[in-house]
Amino acid sequence: MDLVDLHCHLDLYPDFPAIIDECEANRVYTLAVTTTPLAWPRNHELTKEKKFVRAALGMHPQLVADRGAEIAQWERYAPEARYIGEVGLDASRAHKNSIKQQKDVFGRVLDVCDELGGKMLTVHSVRSGGAVLDMLESRLCNATNRVVLHWFTGTASEARRALDLGYYFSVNYEMTRTASGKRIVQALPVDRLLTETDGPFTSIHERPTRPIDVVFVLQQLAHVHDVKVEEMASQVKANLTAVLKA
Ligand code: MN
Repeated sequence: MDLVDLHCHLDLYPDFPAIIDECEANRVYTLAVTTTPLAWPRNHELTKEKKFVRAALGMHPQLVADRGAEIAQWERYAPEARYIGEVGLDASRAHKNSIKQQKDVFGRVLDVCDELGGKMLTVHSVRSGGAVLDMLESRLCNATNRVVLHWFTGTASEARRALDLGYYFSVNYEMTRTASGKRIVQALPVDRLLTETDGPFTSIHERPTRPIDVVFVLQQLAHVHDVKVEEMASQVKANLTAVLKA
């Protein structure tokens, strides 16, 4: 059974090369997201020849207040990156003060992606679902780009709007355990679902999550949508193929 972890910070685990090997051995299609463009060269170098792991070029909204100037470096690497993330907005209490600067940075990301095309973006939208969708809708018009909303916690109407825009959702284990997360997961059609861990920032059975643990997300999704786990796994794999078809 092939698995999909579309959002994992592999470079933040103690042994980065070993966890790449683990993804390969376990056949987990893994997107190694980054939080700063300074991490791109090593992530790209270690993954570009792999079968199951790819790197994404990121500029995390939570780092923008301190490191927003790195967007210039992000722009230099953008032409060589097929996958983009982690990018987006974060209006939670700790980060809302930098929201204007975050919008400037995310706007530059979207403009570059719109110009280059053929990108797949994994997008953070904490307490900013509406603003993120507004920016994506108005600035990411190039139809060859694909959007995956990572750990989406917005409203039901925002989720419907995202579906209408053709976006996908990557769901993690935490989302399947909260009442609000479950409502979102239940409302999403199975052909827009992808799985993720957001490791090592999430935990499972009181240890940091690893990409192979997406199997627990699959079990939850299978339960919610009343299908067999194997069936959900092939659906998610098919969705990955679809999202990569630019
Ligand atoms: Mn993340």
